[in-house]
Amino acid sequence: MTYPLAKHNEDEVKDGQVSTILSGDVSIPLGCSKCQQETEYKLDTLKTTPVLRCRHCGYVHPFGRSELEVIQRVLSHHGYHFTNNEK
Ligand SMILES: [Zn+2]
Repeated sequence: MTYPLAKHNEDEVKDGQVSTILSGDVSIPLGCSKCQQETEYKLDTLKTTPVLRCRHCGYVHPFGRSELEVIQRVLSHHGYHFTNNEK
């Protein structure tokens, strides 16, 4: 699957200087590796689900801790952080 770029507010990511803590209610769009369409998942869902189902084609992606960590890295690169609380 492809990894996110969180929707962001342009003002918040100037120079990557500002760090934003994401709440569990934030939706992260993830691209489907089958149909390429994005489905949004709440951060809380990403933290707790073992699989993600594409809203468009129904394709199921396994989604584990390593995937979550990839997203965490990508987001932190853009100045967004979230706590990786255990399931
Ligand atoms: Zn799909």
